[in-house]
Amino acid sequence: MRLVVLGGGESGVGTAILGKKKGYDVFVSDFGKIKEKYKQVLIDNEILWEDEKHTEDLVLNADVVMKSPGIPDKAPIIKKLHEKGISVISEIEFAAPFTKAVTIGITGSNGKTTTTMLTYHLLKSAGLNVGLGGNIGKSFAWQVADEEYDFYVLELSSFQLDGIVDYKPHIAVITNISPDHLDRYDYKYENYIAAKFRITMNQTEDDYLIYDADDEAIANWLQNNKTKAKLIPFSLSQTFEQGAFILNNNMEVRINQDEFKMETREIALEGKHNTKNAMASSSAANILNIRKSTIRESMSNFQGVEHRLEKVLKIQNVQYINDSKATNVNAVFFALDSMTTPTVWIVGGVDKGNDYNELMPLVREKVKAIVCLGVDNKKIIDAFGNVVDMMVEVTTMRDAVIMSQRLTERGDTVLLSPACASFDLFESYEDRGNQFKRAVQNL
Ligand code: ADP
Repeated sequence: MRLVVLGGGESGVGTAILGKKKGYDVFVSDFGKIKEKYKQVLIDNEILWEDEKHTEDLVLNADVVMKSPGIPDKAPIIKKLHEKGISVISEIEFAAPFTKAVTIGITGSNGKTTTTMLTYHLLKSAGLNVGLGGNIGKSFAWQVADEEYDFYVLELSSFQLDGIVDYKPHIAVITNISPDHLDRYDYKYENYIAAKFRITMNQTEDDYLIYDADDEAIANWLQNNKTKAKLIPFSLSQTFEQGAFILNNNMEVRINQDEFKMETREIALEGKHNTKNAMASSSAANILNIRKSTIRESMSNFQGVEHRLEKVLKIQNVQYINDSKATNVNAVFFALDSMTTPTVWIVGGVDKGNDYNELMPLVREKVKAIVCLGVDNKKIIDAFGNVVDMMVEVTTMRDAVIMSQRLTERGDTVLLSPACASFDLFESYEDRGNQFKRAVQNL
């Protein structure tokens, strides 16, 4: 069997190694440049590769093609593969048949990484032999090639799910759905929603789908479509016979006649959105029969993930918070919602078609000043110019932080929560968050 891998990054190289180990004739082709460290791995494993081109004869001569998530379906080489009837799948689809491990697949527009890390933390604390993969760290395929786990917690983007055929997680989680990446879905929101729900399409009666019942897109889909999986809803406002909810300041999880309860204030992660993530993760843990004392303890000591509402420092009683990963309006909504003192909000970057209306009441209530940090701040100024007392524009993170400090008094908060992508002034959201932290430390 000839396996062609398109894309020589983490998931591509992982797939190539697994394919080689399983006896495939493997060829890796990348239209961009393959990083040196990955080239070396391919050479060491005697895997043939090319970069900065796709040689059609070599790519189209495949029995199966693994496409890395970054490559759009519209790419000419993909169209040609489709025309020839060659199956194009994702890394998860390729790797899953080679492991007996139970997988927990987590998707959604926001909260994937947090929920994945939290679930992993719960399983690991329970002493399970568990791996962490998908969009995080070492690729799933690479781990399947190298390691033997009983469980995997996988963060699955819609692009990973686009390329599945038979894959099913035993436990699927959809954290929430709001418009994102629409450029890859013909600008049709329903296509993006459908992509997320592929996570449940192969599930059976023995599997579970955990989802946010307060989410309009999710609730609508479930009304009009079917899944065989057992449904485990979670909600901040409703209660269920089977599901997770909040009652009298307790988080309650009721699944299969079992009940788990803990006070919400014991959960280390702050904010309503994180209460939802906690409900999703503890539902998964409950399904796997993890001890309640372990769930409780893990929930109360999980400190969160870098760049997601990360508390950096308190200086002169002003709390600085790094939420650089908030690259859309929905994430910012929950960040502002969880602010408890007057806030100087650093916002801006590359706009992804944002509609700021949803934020108006929160900005009125919580934000004392806005620092715009982007090349083009027009939309932000138009939206909030009349809503806050102070609005300034800056072009470096250092200036943003210095300016924010000037605008605060004791007891205030400075929040970097950009609602935008970072590529105008930074290399990535990590770079933006790190620059923020450095600038705060230098104050
Ligand atoms: P993803 O991996 O889906 O991008 P992250 O866990 O990295 O999600 O979080 C991205 C941003 O969304 C952060 O700003 C975080 O604070 C916020 N966030 C986390 N969980 C949720 C949620 N359930 N709903 C809305 N926003 C969330």
